Amino acid sequence: MEYITGITSCGRTWVPTFVVRSNINDCGCCGKCFKICGRGVFEYIDHPDSDDLCGAKVMTVAHPGNCIGCGACARGCPKKNIVCEPKAR
Ligand code: SF4
Ligand code: SF4
Repeated sequence: MEYITGITSCGRTWVPTFVVRSNINDCGCCGKCFKICGRGVFEYIDHPDSDDLCGAKVMTVAHPGNCIGCGACARGCPKKNIVCEPKAR
């Protein structure tokens, strides 16, 4: 399978890993992915069981189409909660 590739500043190719999903039930709500991502991909939402959880918020992949595939969010999540994968052409 051929994957979408990027090019570094010196012209080398690399394979980006784009964000696919995060699991809201495992999210620790630390906000790290939100701060790491420079592309505005993540947003806080109310947890679906918010009423039972005292108004808890969780992070969600709100704008996956903005992702450039740097993979930083998956590396930075302390709960290993974010999945990034290469994308087929
Ligand atoms: S892979 Fe990079 S650009 Fe994509 S959501 Fe994660 S931090 Fe943002
Ligand atoms: S870094 Fe991980 S645990 Fe923290 S808000 Fe993002 S998905 Fe949740």
